Amino acid sequence: MHYIGAHVSIAGGIENAPLRAKEIGATAFAMFTKNQRQWNSPVLKEDNMYAFRKNCESCGYNPEHILPHDSYLINLGSPDPEKLDRSRRALIDEMRRTEALGLVYLNLHPGSHLRQIHETECLHVIADSINLALEATTNVTAVLENTAGQGSNLGYTFEQLAFILERVHDKSRVGICLDTCHLFAAGYDLRTEEAVIETFRKFDTSVGLDHLKGMHLNDAKPELGSRRDRHESIGKGKIGLEGFAAIMRHPASANIPLILETPRPEIWDEEIMLLHSLEKQGSVGKRIVTCDE
Ligand SMILES: [Zn+2]
Ligand SMILES: [Zn+2]
Repeated sequence: MHYIGAHVSIAGGIENAPLRAKEIGATAFAMFTKNQRQWNSPVLKEDNMYAFRKNCESCGYNPEHILPHDSYLINLGSPDPEKLDRSRRALIDEMRRTEALGLVYLNLHPGSHLRQIHETECLHVIADSINLALEATTNVTAVLENTAGQGSNLGYTFEQLAFILERVHDKSRVGICLDTCHLFAAGYDLRTEEAVIETFRKFDTSVGLDHLKGMHLNDAKPELGSRRDRHESIGKGKIGLEGFAAIMRHPASANIPLILETPRPEIWDEEIMLLHSLEKQGSVGKRIVTCDE
């Protein structure tokens, strides 16, 4: 079974997120738990949290298929002690929000060394940040997202992700979200069935497929290995439909939230249908229905 959705807006109240997801035919969704461009946000009100849970229930969304995303301001590997402290406090706040909403996963970006500390040192700092957040909370699993390797962002190789995971004390509360655009940008090919199988095999060897808690399904504008983070609509980029068909057929994509972060929200409903149609298709090479038809 595949659970496919998109990163939806929380404008007007967090309780609107599941309703927006339902409108586009999603069976999974992602959202921010607060305004992602501000450090401080008011605490979630009891009414909004209650309405959120009620709407998730009535729309049929289970906590395991909802993947809230942390703020872009947070840098869990910051070389600056003050900024690191602020990031860690913000992460704990987001983990608590996630728990208060009755959810079980929080998607987060590993962090950047900003060319001020060594890569390895930064990976240690990131692992420590996650340990602190897990100690301050009880239920939420920290779900690290692989990056495109743009700038000084770490977490673009499976080895880096594995390095962090190995240093997290509570292995039962740490997982990975694989973003297809970021994988491709970091040099992991996904264009053919063989390439998809090989990429998941490498991930399984380094990290372990049992840690895969979600995926972001985005096609990529730039070429393989570009180290640039530019999302494209499904089938319109350099990964292409054959690659997404192979991803949908791979057992790794079953039963976890698959989230679109593609640039045209107005076609998310079509992209969701397209992905479901790919999952039903047989071997690669068969005619594939696209959004244009
Ligand atoms: Zn992503
Ligand atoms: Zn991205």
